[in-house]
Amino acid sequence: MNFNWVHWGDKMIKVERSEAPAKLTAEKVKELTEEYKKTEKNVWNQDYIKKALLDMSNNKCIFCECRLGEESKYIEVEHFHPKSKYPEEVVEWENLLPICKRCNGLKRDHDTKLEPIINPTLIDPRKHLTIKKFRFFSKDDLGKKTISVLCLNDSDRLFLPRVKIGDAISSILDSLGKWVDKIKFDHSVEDQNELISKMYNLLKSCQPNAEYSTICSYALFEDDNYYEIKNFMQQVKIWDEDLSRLETNCLNYSLIEYGHLKSTV
Ligand SMILES: [Zn+2]
Repeated sequence: MNFNWVHWGDKMIKVERSEAPAKLTAEKVKELTEEYKKTEKNVWNQDYIKKALLDMSNNKCIFCECRLGEESKYIEVEHFHPKSKYPEEVVEWENLLPICKRCNGLKRDHDTKLEPIINPTLIDPRKHLTIKKFRFFSKDDLGKKTISVLCLNDSDRLFLPRVKIGDAISSILDSLGKWVDKIKFDHSVEDQNELISKMYNLLKSCQPNAEYSTICSYALFEDDNYYEIKNFMQQVKIWDEDLSRLETNCLNYSLIEYGHLKSTV
């Protein structure tokens, strides 16, 4: 699926913190931290740091899940605890996150020690946030602060693109529904294979390594057509293990509560 027309997307999934890049040794950290304290230079702006951060997040902004490195959305190295207030952490690996310009511009020097927000490498966003009608809602104060600092329901940049993604997913499901009707009529194996492959691609576009995976999963699992198509595929025994694995993987990362997944049995 191609979401190039979407400028800003959705957030946010739990990301496993990777190992620090080999070049960022304890000695190097000390040297760069001293340099920063003396000169305030951009000592974190190293290609090996940026590459390791992009690898960690599947090339996505850690907060809004936009794809970095495309459409002039370049990676900025985010200091979760702001470097202006906590210079000791200026190149501390656990404090660095990959982020887009929009999110960096909003978070600025927000003091995350005094007023914590979600760090997706430490905290699972699903515990604090949920999504309804393409808007994020907080489950507690941490979720509330995160939504407000990062403007996660910002109309032009986040909310409207989410609705467009929802619409795209819904029209794909509509077209799959038409395949189902055709297969019911002609029982063609070729058509069945086509349906399997289209469903496979749809679920792939909702995986955690895909851009805007949170909103894609939400739109998919909110749509009744999805359950009807899945139900049909199970009945005619073309819902296979690969599809189940992809579905489970979406659910493991999406902000959809398990209880919201409608039973198809
Ligand atoms: Zn972002």
